[in-house]
Amino acid sequence: MQALQKDIKYLKGVGEKRALLLHKLNIYTIADLMEFFPRAYLNRHSKDTIAKLNPEEQAAVIGHIVSVEKRNLGRHRTQLNVVVSDGKSYLFCTWFRFGKWLPAKFEVGKKIWVSGKISYFKGSPQIVHPDFEVLEEDEEQSFWNKRDILPVYPLTEGISIRQMRRLILNAFQFYADEIQETLPEYLREKLKYEPRRISLQKIHFSQHPDEIPPIKQRYAFEELFYHQLMLARVKKIHKQKESGYKFILHKTYTTKLKGSLPFKMTAAQKKVIREFVADMNSDRQMNRLLQGDVGSGKTIITVFAMLLAIENGFQAIFMAPTEILAEQHFASIKSFLQNQPDIKIALLKGGNYKGKKATIEKIANGEIDIIVGTHALIQPDIKYKKVGFVAIDEQHRFGVEQRAVLSQKNRHPDVMYLSATPIPRSLALTVYGDLDVSVLDELPPGRQPIKTIWRNSNKKKTVYKEVEKELQKGKQVYIVCPLIEQSEKSDLLAAETLYQEISERIFPKYNSFLLHGKMKTAEKDEIMQKFKQTPASILVSTTVIEVGIDVPNASVMIIEHAERFGLSQLHQLRGRVGRGQGRSYCYLIAHPPISSEARERLQTMVSTTDGFKIAEKDLELRGPGDFFGTEQSGMPLFKHANLVRDQHLLKIARNLAFQIVKDDPQLEKPENRLLHQKYKAEFAQREQLFNF
Ligand code: ADP
Ligand code: MG
Repeated sequence: MQALQKDIKYLKGVGEKRALLLHKLNIYTIADLMEFFPRAYLNRHSKDTIAKLNPEEQAAVIGHIVSVEKRNLGRHRTQLNVVVSDGKSYLFCTWFRFGKWLPAKFEVGKKIWVSGKISYFKGSPQIVHPDFEVLEEDEEQSFWNKRDILPVYPLTEGISIRQMRRLILNAFQFYADEIQETLPEYLREKLKYEPRRISLQKIHFSQHPDEIPPIKQRYAFEELFYHQLMLARVKKIHKQKESGYKFILHKTYTTKLKGSLPFKMTAAQKKVIREFVADMNSDRQMNRLLQGDVGSGKTIITVFAMLLAIENGFQAIFMAPTEILAEQHFASIKSFLQNQPDIKIALLKGGNYKGKKATIEKIANGEIDIIVGTHALIQPDIKYKKVGFVAIDEQHRFGVEQRAVLSQKNRHPDVMYLSATPIPRSLALTVYGDLDVSVLDELPPGRQPIKTIWRNSNKKKTVYKEVEKELQKGKQVYIVCPLIEQSEKSDLLAAETLYQEISERIFPKYNSFLLHGKMKTAEKDEIMQKFKQTPASILVSTTVIEVGIDVPNASVMIIEHAERFGLSQLHQLRGRVGRGQGRSYCYLIAHPPISSEARERLQTMVSTTDGFKIAEKDLELRGPGDFFGTEQSGMPLFKHANLVRDQHLLKIARNLAFQIVKDDPQLEKPENRLLHQKYKAEFAQREQLFNF
């Protein structure tokens, strides 16, 4: 183990300079290099011919370069075309983005291996941005030259495929004996996995590509398994007795709340309230995720839980990811508690403002019962008197660390995580595998499903005609534009342009408002409030309105450039309407050209309003890495596992991990020695983060 953790610069053939290049590929140690998997395998004697290639298929061929051409496409853009022939047919290899060094790699007449997804261009097969390797014939008879199947690695500028292969070979020549097993024999036997050393060698040196998939599976399994092992332990620790507060349902504040509600709770809401009241009544710490689609009524449930803590003499905290959301929660909590003036509520925001110091003091001495806020709640200068309950809204937007800080400030409060992002089961098991889950699977009565209509941009006139009917009824309308070119500036322009068109040309008779991310919070809030209070008005906005905003009288959502949005975001945006009685409409305006994947997204939106179905589809189309976006952590980065492809494997890994922790929580039995070792080295510290 130790030897393999050595800095990669000490490997024969590396050194300081090349080490820096390897860092770009996330290779820092010898172990990293050994676990750097090929992304393809080259068969030197492949008999595949170009004529037999099928479109959309992954393929590889060997041929000769017959032409190399760089074309100017204008606006500083160039295209590189390399034509390859197998003697009978031609294959076009095309690059739209490439480094200056690339064209020089190709020389007419040289033998080349190319691989990638086949498409057709003007009737000829084409690969865009292929993997390739120019096959040198005059090299000395090296280890690799004698082989038929060669590994093809991801590369970075400055490291050629030959250098990479040489380094891999060096690593295994000097360090193969140091490779240690990481799965106990009983698990390997059960799952039919070979010893780790053998499988790692095969990954790089196998001459039988058929044996690769099960080996890759082993690595995927191992990642999932250890992650689940950690979650199983965290859950076990949380479940240990007397780690939390025991609240008693005194039925003072809670019962008064129940009596004053303007509506009847849905069956789902009642069920969920029973679930967490049971948690809060026990002396174990609650760690429960409340999942419910937009509009399913999570707020009132949270208020109920807060009052339960407060009637036991504790404070309650509600943390939201943005200021707009915090303010909205603050307002709706206040309105639910109108008739209970002895419960004191405060809003804590970031930055400096008048009255903040006084609020902080009142929080510290316990005068305030409910504290709503953003990240401001976890700043070091904020002290609490006695927190018994914490609610974290849109919790996937906070990192594990931030959640931990909040809880560490307070001794074992009960924690409820809220999520309006329906999450596919496989992701939920991974990201929230340590939590109990409550699902609000019913919308309040009287809500009609939102009618979703997909129109291309040339049909906008007819859309506006339909929309006017809603405005005539006094209903409100959202129009959302995307960040068109990633830069804040153009985003702003797009919304502004549309706002002008709408307010001056399309709907001059109605009030229009403009909202975008460049505005100050106060300005945004003022506009939101105005829009909310003005019947028959239109809000043209960027995606800042995405989460949580509640205007029950709004009945139309128009999404411009809908083809550019991800499914979950479209679903969130659509959830801004359909919150009151009566029909609501969502118009998806697509601007051609529309990719086939975008078509699939739009079609999904038209065909269902079920958030979970949409989430599954989103995961399938985007892959787990992008599902939560970049800033949103809690999502482990797996190198080998893929949560879409490996759902079955995840289930096996989870069952085994939970069983093992049940039998041997400290992993101290002899047969679990290997588990203990790796866990201690790589997971024990991360486990601490969850233990609050
Ligand atoms: P979420 O946070 O889950 O998106 P909210 O808690 O904001 O949803 O609730 C959406 C709207 O529905 C709010 O205006 C809320 O007052 C209302 N509401 C909640 N529960 C019910 C219910 N059982 N019957 C009718 N309206 C409800
Ligand atoms: Mg909400």
